[in-house]
Amino acid sequence: MTTNIKEYSSIVGQDIIDELYLLAGKLEGKVIRNINSTKVGGGVAEILNRMISLLEQLSVDARWDTIKGDENFFNITKKMHNALHGVDVEISLEEFMYFLEINRKNAKEMDFTGDIFFIHDPQPIVLVELKESLGNKWVWRCHVDFTTPKEEVMAFLKLYIEKYDSAVFSAPAFARKLRVPQVLISPSIDPLSDKNKDLSQEEIDSVLEKFGIDKSRPIVTQISRFDYLKDPIGVIEVYKRVKRHLDCQLVLAGGGATDDPEGVKVLEEVKNAAADDPDIFVLLLPPKSDVEINALQRASSVILQKSLKEGFGLTVAEALWKEKPVIASAVGGIPLQIAHKHSGILTYSIDGTVHYLKQLLYEPEYAKGLAQNGKEHIKNNFLITRHIKDYLLLFLSLYNGG
Ligand code: UDP
Repeated sequence: MTTNIKEYSSIVGQDIIDELYLLAGKLEGKVIRNINSTKVGGGVAEILNRMISLLEQLSVDARWDTIKGDENFFNITKKMHNALHGVDVEISLEEFMYFLEINRKNAKEMDFTGDIFFIHDPQPIVLVELKESLGNKWVWRCHVDFTTPKEEVMAFLKLYIEKYDSAVFSAPAFARKLRVPQVLISPSIDPLSDKNKDLSQEEIDSVLEKFGIDKSRPIVTQISRFDYLKDPIGVIEVYKRVKRHLDCQLVLAGGGATDDPEGVKVLEEVKNAAADDPDIFVLLLPPKSDVEINALQRASSVILQKSLKEGFGLTVAEALWKEKPVIASAVGGIPLQIAHKHSGILTYSIDGTVHYLKQLLYEPEYAKGLAQNGKEHIKNNFLITRHIKDYLLLFLSLYNGG
């Protein structure tokens, strides 16, 4: 679904849209080529899907390609992803070499006409080797939580990060000692996408019906890829402990990402942990389930995001935008979105999450206040129009030495 950029003025004001046109005009004739590793699943694809069409409407020539890799490559990149998130993993020399080989193969096969190469996350990071021969501008966009990366992987990636003209991180906590200009740009959600647009009560109810969820009892939801770092097993434990005190249902909904080979195993473990409880709904959603996710978020009494690490956590912004009370871990980019006890709840443990989940379910008026503040905060800081403006300014700064 493409949305006309003019429609955003009713949410953010016409001045913001005019400003975007003004900035975009200054990039006339420039081709911006985004490259990441998947078109489906996860936050990066979510954002690019929406952003490319809006940039096009602003007459910015923005394109989006993905690198190709086999199972071995994506197993290695998932290990790197986990290591950047502080998880202990072994990556052999052969694996590092294979990672380089696949990047270099893509460098030979992909189309590199363009002016600004906007490379997302570690998977395609080595493409920057082309900078020497191609010239042009290269920006590395890091979407992962960089708080405690494992030294070995960080040292390896640093060799490439420092070749870029600029590196973009999502939260101040991720800035590292790097010989490259670092820029802070938070991600965003699109309020007019199928994922976030308003839905009628009938549409919401029909999704609940489809999944057999009872709308008359409280619903607690976490939307996430099935990934250990999203701690779905921890969520089930929280739910089971809360359930001893009050009746509720748990929805764990998520799909896979083509660059995330761990999902199947995690889903299996989640299903086992959820077995025998008819009030736990483990939903494996196909791609393009945006309306379903939107409805599940809107139908929920409380949204959880119990991540152990989190680059930003679009799902938090999505829930807050829908004026839902959110309890989320105080990790990575999440504290940018939630001020504790003001725009949601930040927790550090299962115990803390149990405590606050009970409170929010027992005290809906308090929960409502948090949710209202949360929506305001997302509106002021994390909508796609702000994100586009930040990117346009970044692109322009590459030519102004700024
Ligand atoms: N998402 C989705 N389908 C799913 C699970 C997640 O469309 O089955 C979306 C979710 O709504 C959000 C994005 O994928 O927009 C996940 O982004 P987030 O930053 O929360 O986490 P990531 O997956 O990038 O680690």
